[in-house]
Amino acid sequence: MTNIDSLLRADLRGKTPYGAPQLDVEVALNTNENAYALPDTVAEAIQRHVAEVVGGLNRYPDRDAVDLRRDLAAYLGHDLSVDNVWAANGSNEILQQLLQAFGGPGRTALGFTPSYSMHPIIASSTGTQWADGLREADFGLSAEHVRAAIAEHDPDVVFLCSPNNPTGTALDAEVIVAAVEACRGMVIVDEAYAEFAREPENTAVRLLVDHQRLVVTRTMSKAFGLAGARLGYLAAHPDVISALLLVRLPYHLSSLTQAAARGALTGTKQLLATVDEIRIQRDRIVATIRAQGLPVADSDANFVLFGGMADAPAVWQKLLDRGVLIRDNGLPGWLRVTAGTQSETTAFLAALQAVQTVNP
Ligand code: PMP
Repeated sequence: MTNIDSLLRADLRGKTPYGAPQLDVEVALNTNENAYALPDTVAEAIQRHVAEVVGGLNRYPDRDAVDLRRDLAAYLGHDLSVDNVWAANGSNEILQQLLQAFGGPGRTALGFTPSYSMHPIIASSTGTQWADGLREADFGLSAEHVRAAIAEHDPDVVFLCSPNNPTGTALDAEVIVAAVEACRGMVIVDEAYAEFAREPENTAVRLLVDHQRLVVTRTMSKAFGLAGARLGYLAAHPDVISALLLVRLPYHLSSLTQAAARGALTGTKQLLATVDEIRIQRDRIVATIRAQGLPVADSDANFVLFGGMADAPAVWQKLLDRGVLIRDNGLPGWLRVTAGTQSETTAFLAALQAVQTVNP
């Protein structure tokens, strides 16, 4: 053990940092980004907005990002106002702030794995105890299952993810309502992939009006194609936002980020125009792999989880050898692929077919 290791918090010693490999490959389908570059009109709007703030960078940004939050509330609709919305550097930071405020030492967060692996990691780094309610065999989650797990663990925070990463599974509103009613704590619905859902109007945002302990987190990294800008946000009761002001670092969201996000939101329609094409490629992946006889999880996201492999890491490596990078989430027998452009998706499906033919 080095000197530094011995000084590190005991619960962090020996851990490896989270992160998918960032490799220089021809076809990168491993981190659920939007495969399409920004349309020129939106790129220009972002440049104009950023140019307007550059001269004022000697000053700190608006600490409460009020204009941006107003724009995000308008995008979400459902009669939400600036007081219902909060923004940060990616939804990961939003989730961290939520656990800083509502989790922490002596408190428990409950999740249902397989799900987004940052949920337990952020729980751990904020000193929050993690409890795993596990998902059902088909990766679904029933109201009954959620109620039983809440009764067993009595959590302070419940994580639901809809559509769920890495399975793509969307949740019915009754499951979310059951969670809020069964628990005494906060229920976070991570909707990073909401725009790709087959029924996007089935969002938990519409449940906020009746449920004060419900929080819905969103991101501009996926459907909006702005992963590089780092902008996540949430919608919740105004008291939740007041609580987050206690833990957020002052000026956490730079003027550049706020301006870029506001510029992008002027072109929401053009930005989201790629969502339909991505859905088509997602459904194509599901249908093609299913036709090959492999199990595939139904997906409401921009990725697909497929299984039936005796040695998934070997398939992952063989695909990489063919220039196609997908994701091994550590689920035995399963791999996850992001739906790309039509040609990227074709390249992936051809490579998968080749790998299986070589190695039946
Ligand atoms: N939630 C889920 C379910 C995700 O898959 C991701 C990104 N992989 C995030 C949150 C975080 O995204 P970001 O920080 O880019 O908003």
